[in-house]
Parts: sequence; C-alpha cells; structure tokens
Amino acid sequence: MDYEEKYAESITYIRAKIDQLLKLMGTLPLRPEELDDHTLIELDPIGIVAQSFSQVLQHLHETNEQLASAKDEIRTILDAINAAVVVIDDQGRVEEYNRLAHTLFFKQLESEQIIGHVAREICTCEEGIGEKVLKSLNLSCETVIDGRDFMVNATHLESKGGAPRRTVLLYTEITAQKQAEESLRLYEKVFDNTAEGILITDGEAKIVETNSAFTRITGYSLADLIGQRPSLLKSGRHDSEFYASHWKSLEESGTWKGEIIDRHKNGSLVPLLQTISKITDWQGQTTNYISILTDITSLKETQTRLDFLAHHDALTELPNRLLFHDRLDHAIERAERNDNKIGLLFIDLDRFKIINDSLGHDVGDTLLQQVARQISSLSRKSDTVARLGGDEFVILIENVTSDTACTTFANKIVHALKQPFDIDEHQLHIGCSIGISIYPDDGEDSVTLIKNADTAMYKVKESGRDGYHKYSSELSESAVERLTIENALRHALERQEFHLHYQPLIDCERQHVFGAEALLRWQCPLLGNVSPMKFIPIAEESSLIIPIGYWVFEESIRQYKSWRDSGIELDYISINVSGAQLYHFNFAETLIALMLKHGLTGDQIQIEITENIMMNDIDTCISILDQLRSEGFRVAIDDFGTGYSSLSYLRRLPIDMLKIDRSFVMHLPDNNNDCMIATAVVSLAKSLKLETVAEGIEDERQLDFLHDIGCNRFQGFHFSRPTDAEAFEQYWHRYAR
Ligand code: C2E
Ligand code: MG
Ligand code: MG
Repeated sequence: MDYEEKYAESITYIRAKIDQLLKLMGTLPLRPEELDDHTLIELDPIGIVAQSFSQVLQHLHETNEQLASAKDEIRTILDAINAAVVVIDDQGRVEEYNRLAHTLFFKQLESEQIIGHVAREICTCEEGIGEKVLKSLNLSCETVIDGRDFMVNATHLESKGGAPRRTVLLYTEITAQKQAEESLRLYEKVFDNTAEGILITDGEAKIVETNSAFTRITGYSLADLIGQRPSLLKSGRHDSEFYASHWKSLEESGTWKGEIIDRHKNGSLVPLLQTISKITDWQGQTTNYISILTDITSLKETQTRLDFLAHHDALTELPNRLLFHDRLDHAIERAERNDNKIGLLFIDLDRFKIINDSLGHDVGDTLLQQVARQISSLSRKSDTVARLGGDEFVILIENVTSDTACTTFANKIVHALKQPFDIDEHQLHIGCSIGISIYPDDGEDSVTLIKNADTAMYKVKESGRDGYHKYSSELSESAVERLTIENALRHALERQEFHLHYQPLIDCERQHVFGAEALLRWQCPLLGNVSPMKFIPIAEESSLIIPIGYWVFEESIRQYKSWRDSGIELDYISINVSGAQLYHFNFAETLIALMLKHGLTGDQIQIEITENIMMNDIDTCISILDQLRSEGFRVAIDDFGTGYSSLSYLRRLPIDMLKIDRSFVMHLPDNNNDCMIATAVVSLAKSLKLETVAEGIEDERQLDFLHDIGCNRFQGFHFSRPTDAEAFEQYWHRYAR
C-alpha cells in the first residue's frame, strides 16, 4: 500500500468523521459527496471541524512517516536475507521483490519494468518463477536456477479487505547443502566399499562403527562389536610391551602404524597392516580413534614364499647353496663347542648329463626331483640335504660318531641310486659318486670341507664311478692333476696332440686279422703320454669328448679306407664310443655322413659301447643303434661282464658282438670262477647268435682255454699291442702270411 492509497483512506475516514459530526449537529443538508472544503468552512465557521481535521491530518502524516520507514526497514531486511523473495498477486503480477530476486529473475530490469508486470513474462531466467512450486501440492520443492540449487517455498496470503490473494515465493539456495549431502553419500560409499577394514571407536576406545571390509577381514559384524573394545581381536601373539608402545605413540604423535597379528572370529590368525589415528575436538579432547586395517595375509604368504625361494632350489625344494653354507657354518660352530664331528657327503650323479642332453630337460628335471626325494627319504630329519646346482647334491650330517657311520650311509645312497628310475616311458639308470669329508679331520671350515668332499667324489669318478670315497690328503694331489689334465685337454685337439693306435682283432681259426680297434693316444707336451683311462673320463665330464670323438671317427675311417685302397683287407674298423657321444644330438646322422663321405659301407664300421652306457636309457639307445644298424653298422658291447645289463635287456639290444672284458680273461685258466664266467658268456653269446671276442689275451694258456670253450676271436698283447698305423700294416702282412 502506498502513500496515496493511505491518504485516500484517511480522507474517507475523515469524511466519515464529519458525517458523524453533522449528524450530531442535527443537520443533514448535504450528501457527503457535496461536502468540499469550502462547504466545510461554511458549515464550520468557528473551525471546530477544521481544528480536529488538522489534528487528524497531523496524525495521518505521522502514521504515513512511520509506515514509510517501516516499509524501508522491511525492504532492507528483505534485501539482507539470504534468499530471493518475490510477491505476486493472483494475476501473477509482481508486487514486491528483493535484491536477490532481482539478480536471479529480473537481471538488468528497472523497478518500473518489474512491479505490476506479469512475473512469467518478464523473468529473465529460463526456469521461470514459481511455476514448478505452484503446480506442486507441497508448496515447496527443489529447483535449479543457473546451475545452482534452490528450495522454493510458496506462501499464499488470503485476500483481506478487498486486497487480492497474493503469493510469497521464497527461494533459499541449497547448493552447498546439496554438495555436502553428495559428499556425505560418497564418503558413505567409500567407507563401505573400501578394501581396507575401518574401525571407529569413541574417545573411550569403545567401538562405534565398522565397515563391511572390517567384517570380511575379522569375521566380526558391527553388532558383534558395538560398545566393545578393539582388544577383543587380540591374538595373544604380542606382549603387553607391544601394545603399550603402540598406545604411547598414539598419545604422543596422534598416530600409530605397524604390522599386527589379530585373531579372526573363527580363531585363525590374521596378519594386518594397521594405522590408528586419534581424532580430537577443538578443546583437544579425544573424540574418536580411527583404525584402518589392511589384510596382508597374501603379502605375508608371498614374502614367506620368496624367502623360501631365496634359500631353496626351486626344482627340488631342497635347501640351496646359500642355506646349506649357512647351516654348515652353524653346525661347525656347534660341533666346535661340543667337540663333535660332522660328516659331509658330496653326491654327483654319474650319467645325468647324458640323460639331460639326450632326453631333454623335462625328463632331466623330473629325474632330479625323484633323486632329491630318494636321498631325502634315506636321510634323518636332522640331516640337511641340499642341491648345490646341476646334478650335485650334498648332505650334512651332525653328531657323527664314526667315519663308518658316514660310509655306511653313503653306501646306502649309492645302492638306492643304482636302482632304475621310471620316468614317462623311460627306465633310467644313473648311479652316483659320493665323496665324504669329516669335520674336523678333513677341514675346519665350510669351504675346505666342501672342496675336499668334492675331491673325494672325483676319485670315485676316476675309479669307475658308482661308489663312494672318503677324503684323504693324498686326494688333493689327484684333484690338482685332474684340473691340469682338463686344462691341457682343452687345447690338445687344435695343437694336434692326438694320434691313433690300432690293435689287431685276430681270428685264430681262419688265421687272419679280421679287424682293428682304434685306440686314442694323447702325447701331451706338459704331461707326456696320458692314458685314455685317465683323460677320457675327464673329456666326458667336460664335454670335450664330442669334438675329440669326432676326430677319432674321421681319422680312423680315413685310415681304414686308405688300408683297403692299398690292399690291406680288414672286415671293419672298430671304434670306441662314450656315452656322452652316443646320446649327443645327431650322433647317428653324423656317423652316417662320415661313412658316406669316405665312400664306405656301414658294415665296415663297428662301434664299441659299454653295457652301462646302453643301460642309461635303454630305449633311446635302442633307437639310435637301430638307426645305425639299418645302415649296416656293427655294434659291439665292450668290456662285457663289468656292467649291469641283464639277460632280458641283452635280448632286446641290436648288437653283433660281445667283447669279454680283460678282467675275466686275466686269471684264466687258474681261477675257477673266471673259467665258469667265461664259459657262460661264450655259450650265452652263442645262444643269442652273437660273436665273441676275448680281450686282453696275454698268453697261450688263456688262448687255449678260450679256444676249448668255443671262442676263436681274440685281441691282446699276446698277438700285438696297439701300435701306430705303419706298425699295424707290417703286423698284418706278417700275420696274413
Ligand atoms: P677298451 O675299449 O676296452 O680298449 C682296450 C684296452 O685294453 C686298451 O687300452 C688296450 O691297450 C688294452 N689292452 C688290449 N690288449 C691288452 C692286453 O693284452 N693286456 C692289457 N693289460 N691291456 C690290453 P687303452 O688303449 O689304454 O684304452 C683304454 C680305454 O680307453 C679303452 O678300453 C676305451 O674304453 C677307452 N678308449 C680308448 N680310445 C678311445 C676312443 O677313441 N674313444 C673312446 N670313447 N674311448 C677310448
Ligand atoms: Mg674298446
Ligand atoms: Mg674293452
């Protein structure tokens, strides 16, 4: 209501008053509308009415002033409130608005462009004014204006005294509140979906809140724990000092972080990484403790596994070199304190390399695992069985009472590893060589003990493998010698230090030399003539036998061809083959290629293999030999009787000849036992339709005995020592005559 209206209202009021006055005076000459100022003066000549009129006007003036100031005050208040206010009448025209409403709805409009105009038409914002709320039943709703959130309230003012019905629209901004609600919802989600367990206590450390991860990790639900203390989860794995230091840190720095083991509701232990933070209010009073827990079970398992792998061999799961040295060092310390002895068994598998090279690493790996299991099963719990690498194992035996205890144990292992191992379709024979050293007799520190056991092991290898040997100081010399030979051997081929000798194979019945065995000779400038018995095993161990063996083939085949060309007729040349050669990649193909290169036929070449080499992997051996025999090659078993082939195997092997080992010939005919063996071998060979050659014939009596039992083919010093090619030729000519 503005001033003019008030004024008009007051005039009406005054006229009513005058009407009243006139009525009182008993005159009613005029109707109120005829009453003007002039008439009033006439009617009220003495100014009674005028006086009261001016009083009334005065009053009216004051009222108007109060009204205006109240209005100003209200506008100021309206402008100051943090909400937009718009008053519209029942026609939707703006009656009143405040500052915020202006910026929201009537941007850049002047007051006269707003007041009295239809709000919907002049509103400058897209969303309009009050439309949504007026449609809603609640008279309050949320709306978005210019990307800001508002709560709109509509209040209808009923019409009074002819004034139209009005509506007051109040827009309160709730953007911040909405954002706060949104983040709260987000925190709630995070709280419940985080992988970390969260536990919240009040200032007295009583549990007030947990999340679902916490329940998953500990098994306890919030209902189980509410009002309880976190000590409910104690595992008993930490002493009171641990908890005391953790509370101390919490009080001093407001936080504690570390690993802790708690107990799951089901009783199991849970390793956790825990961070506890103290929350205080503005007065510094502790209001809460928040604990965040990460389950580190799998991390711990990985750590344990890694730790295991660092100290164990991944293939066999036995302790590795690192752990073994550690155990040995500790064992030595204990033994020194208690005046005890320690035994060290150094085990090297005998024919492992051949198997690994010929059958592949998968078979090799499985074999190593089986061997590891076998050795472990024979050992006591207190022994340490370790794999040092490759095919080397070592056993540490504490509290050894006598040397015999170690040798008996070694013997047990040798025997066990002699038994065949079944892997896939293969039956594998390996065997092992064991060197033994004893603390303190053979060394006072771990390095010396291992070195000396290794030396003793090589002694076994040198003397034919498959056995054990206790270290003695003399052995060190032979270890040095072995190393010297190996080093010298490395250059022997390129420096042409090898040559071949040939030993005639004699047929007594037909009185002729039917063949020659090629025997390798090494004239080393440093070591002189080295026996093949000495250097061949070393060449095998170091794989040098492959190039050396190839040279032997090439040279002996060449020599045989040149003899034949010059009229020296020999049925074949017999060449020794070691296991490493036979099972080496492409052995048969290489040999066939050499034969073709020199224009020979297969039946002019015989290979000599020992029984044990054949037995290593009988199936592979048979397939290689079959391949060679299909090209006509001859196969002889060398040193027959010294290995461990059985009759059943012998029948399966594709062979032509048995060479009876010199050890059975040596004591003929005086040793009854040897006589029986020789007789049995000859008749066995006959029944298997195999030829026999007796090796190492040194005298007439041996010859006669063998002749009598039906063996007619010989080799030995009695006829000729192995000689160079020239001397062999001469012998051939002499004997043929
Ligand atoms: P082996 O194949 O059994 O050869 C026979 C060995 O007996 C030869 O020794 C020979 O000299 C010797 N011998 C022959 N007749 C008599 C005899 O009447 N009395 C005595 N006491 N000994 C006799 P060698 O030449 O010292 O060879 C020893 C072993 O070295 C051979 O035994 C063979 O296994 C191996 N070997 C020799 N040459 C080669 C070769 O080129 N390659 C391979 N892989 N091994 C070879
Ligand atoms: Mg031979
Ligand atoms: Mg032989």
